[in-house]
Amino acid sequence: MRVKLDPLFEYRHCPNCGQNDFIVLFDSNMKQDDFQEGIESVYMLPGGKYGRHVKCRNCHLIYVNPIEKGSKINEDYSQRKSVDASIIRESRLRAAKSQVELIKRYKKGTNLLDIGCGEGFFLFNASRAGYVAKGIELSQDAAAYAKREFSLAIEARAFEERQFPENCFDIVTLWQVLEHLPYPLAILKEVHRILKPGGLLIVSTPDIEGIPARIFRRKWWNIRKLHINQFTTKTLTDILQNAGFKNVSPVSYKESISLLMLFIPMLRYLKIYEPLKALFHPSTISGKIMNKLVLPYPSRLDNCTMTSFK
Ligand SMILES: [Zn+2]
Repeated sequence: MRVKLDPLFEYRHCPNCGQNDFIVLFDSNMKQDDFQEGIESVYMLPGGKYGRHVKCRNCHLIYVNPIEKGSKINEDYSQRKSVDASIIRESRLRAAKSQVELIKRYKKGTNLLDIGCGEGFFLFNASRAGYVAKGIELSQDAAAYAKREFSLAIEARAFEERQFPENCFDIVTLWQVLEHLPYPLAILKEVHRILKPGGLLIVSTPDIEGIPARIFRRKWWNIRKLHINQFTTKTLTDILQNAGFKNVSPVSYKESISLLMLFIPMLRYLKIYEPLKALFHPSTISGKIMNKLVLPYPSRLDNCTMTSFK
């Protein structure tokens, strides 16, 4: 169904090149009520709700147009609850270790900022590896979890409201963040400003030309309400270069998903998660077993991950 013109929505020019010349790839499947729901908790499940996807004729970036007003999006993220944090913890910590291995390949300094750090799984591992790691996160609940569980210094606010000094970080990371941002180019330019000369930026975002995206098409798990920019290696390279970054190149690291992370969304979808939830808690034997059963895969299978430098 077509999204109605509404003051709650915002029509965007291309978030990369700024042109307003696009073709519609597919329409939204959302009804008015779907917009009121806030952040959906289901992840990695094919067949979700999504906005109207368009493709820029000039730079070929795929983006959602219109989107909900940026202020409403930020408000929703700030209210997001960390419902499954303790259950997905082991699996996310495992993946975070290989993210840290990736940054260690580049002999940069130790002053690191993770934007959209969520529950702090990556930051925790980065701190243990010797990085002086700061995080910024919109979700109050996720930031509270990171402080409580890992004693991390997290600022619970929007990155665009926080003016860090120029040239102050050796490394900035954006793990699965860029696809959520109404104005990704403005954020990348700000990241460029706060990085030291020669500093490293790592960005990882779903790849709409990856194998799962090609198989599942509109039912791909990353076609979902909250993902409002869809990148390819080429369009991600373009936007990074537009923001001033140099030596942009794709990399891959070892991702993994535990059986738990595959099962929970399915059970939620079937509405039988709540009665069975106790079985999955990591303190139970069944929870421990499910957490140990892990499917490793190279991140490039489903994501574009790029390194670039100021
Ligand atoms: Zn464009």
